[in-house]
Amino acid sequence: MPEVIIVLFNRDLRITDHPALHQACQDARQVVPLFVVDPAIPPRGRAGFLVECLHDLRESLRERGADLVVRRGDVVEETMRVAAETGATAIYASGDVTPRARRRESRFAREAVGFQTFPGITIVPPARLKPATGDHYKVFTPFYRAWSEARWRPLVAAPETVSMPEVRPGDIPGVRHRPHLPGGEREVRRRLDLWLRHRLRDYAAGHDDLAGDHTSRLSPYLRFGCVSPLELATRSGASEEFVRQLCWRDFYAQVTFAFPGIARDDYRPGRRDWHHDKEAEDAWREGMTGVPIVDAGMRQLIAEGWMHNRARMIVASFLTKTLRLDWRVGADHFEELLLDGDVANNYGNWQWVAGTGNDTRPNRVLNPVRQAKKFDRDGEYIRRHVPELANVPTTMLHEPWRAPSPILGYTAPIWRG
Ligand SMILES: Cc1cc2nc3c(=O)[nH]c(=O)nc-3n(C[C@H](O)[C@H](O)[C@H](O)COP(=O)(O)OP(=O)(O)OC[C@H]3O[C@@H](n4cnc5c(N)ncnc54)[C@H](O)[C@@H]3O)c2cc1C
Repeated sequence: MPEVIIVLFNRDLRITDHPALHQACQDARQVVPLFVVDPAIPPRGRAGFLVECLHDLRESLRERGADLVVRRGDVVEETMRVAAETGATAIYASGDVTPRARRRESRFAREAVGFQTFPGITIVPPARLKPATGDHYKVFTPFYRAWSEARWRPLVAAPETVSMPEVRPGDIPGVRHRPHLPGGEREVRRRLDLWLRHRLRDYAAGHDDLAGDHTSRLSPYLRFGCVSPLELATRSGASEEFVRQLCWRDFYAQVTFAFPGIARDDYRPGRRDWHHDKEAEDAWREGMTGVPIVDAGMRQLIAEGWMHNRARMIVASFLTKTLRLDWRVGADHFEELLLDGDVANNYGNWQWVAGTGNDTRPNRVLNPVRQAKKFDRDGEYIRRHVPELANVPTTMLHEPWRAPSPILGYTAPIWRG
C-alpha cells in the first residue's frame, strides 16, 4: 500500500461521489487533498464563486480530520513540489476534456510518479461511447440513445475520515467581489433537495418559459463540480426531460474530447462568412440593441452572471444569424461573464446556434420577435430586465419600433423584425 497519494482537485470541488478521493482513501495510508490556484484562471466573474467552493471543501475535509492544501502557480510544478514534500508516490485526479486539462494530464504522465485519472466530471466518460463509424458522436439524438442504454458507474459515498500527513495548508486567495451566488457543496445540496422536492415536476412543461424561471439554476455548481452530475441524474430520474439536458452536457464533453479546437475553430469549417461591426457588437454586449428580448437576456447576464437557456439561444442566434457577427465574439463574452461558463458547453452551444457545430439544421434562424411572443408572451421577463420598458403595454413591448412614437429612454433598434 502506498504511504501517501495526492488527490488533485480541479473542477470537482466536492467530497460526495468523488471517485478519485474515494479510491485514494482506499489505496493509501494518507491522502493529500490539493488545489492549485492557476493565476491565469478563472476570469473575474467566476473567481468569487471558486473561492467560496474552496472554503467549503476545506471545511468538509477538516471535519474529516484532513485539510485542503492550497498552492498558487503552475499546477504540475506545484503538485510535484507537494509530492516531494510529502513523499507522495501517486497523484489521482478527475479526468477532464478541455485542451488545457489534457495538456496538464500528459505533463503529469511524464513525471516520475504514478498519475491516474478517474471519472466524475461527466456521467458517462467522454471517450466511452463510440458510434459505428467515427471516433465520437456528431449528432445528439443517437448519442442520447447510446448514453441512455450505457451502464452508469455506482455512486460513491463521501469518505468518513481522511488521514493526512503533516503539510502546510496554504491560504485560499481573497477576492474583491462577492459572487452572484454562494458557492460550495453544502449550498448545492440544500438547493438540490429543494429542487427535487418542489420544482423538478414542473420542469418538462415550464423549462422554456422565460419569466417562470423553472430551470434548476444548478449549472454553476455543475461547472465547479460541487455536485456530481451522476448523482444529479440518478436522483432526478423522474423527469426524463431534465436528465436529457444533463446528457447534452456529456454530449459536448465528448465533442470537445474529440475536437479540442472547439473554442477557436469551426467544427464544420467553411460554412459561414462573418461580418465585423464593433458598434453592433458593443450594443449586443451591453444589452442596448433596441430589440427587447435580446436586451433582456444580455442584461440578465450582466446582472446575474447567468442567463436562461432560451434567452441564450435567442441572443446567440441574433448575433450570429441575424447580425451575421462572428460566434467567437459572443462566446468569449459569455465565457467571461457566465458563472457556469465552461469550454465544452459554452463553445459547443455557440457553434450549434451559429450553424458551424452539431446542429443538423445549421441554417435555422430564431426570429427574436417570434421567440419573444412565444416564450415571454406577457413580457414579464423583458420588463424585469429592461426597466425602461416597464410601463410599455404588451402590444408594443416586443416590437417597440412599431409604437406610434419612440419610447422615451429606450435605445433605437439596430435591427427591425
Ligand atoms: C449560446 C449558449 C451558451 C451556453 N453556455 C453554457 C455554458 O458555458 N455552461 C453551461 O453549463 N451551459 C451553457 N449553455 C447551456 C444552457 O443554457 C445552460 O446549461 C443552462 O441554461 C443552465 O441553467 P440551468 O442549470 O437552470 O439548466 P437546467 O435546464 O436546469 O439544466 C440542468 C443542467 O443540464 C445541463 N444543460 C442544460 N442545457 C444544456 C445545453 N444546451 N448544453 C449543455 N448542457 C446543458 C447544464 O449542466 C444544466 O445545469 C449554453 C447554451 C447556449 C445556447
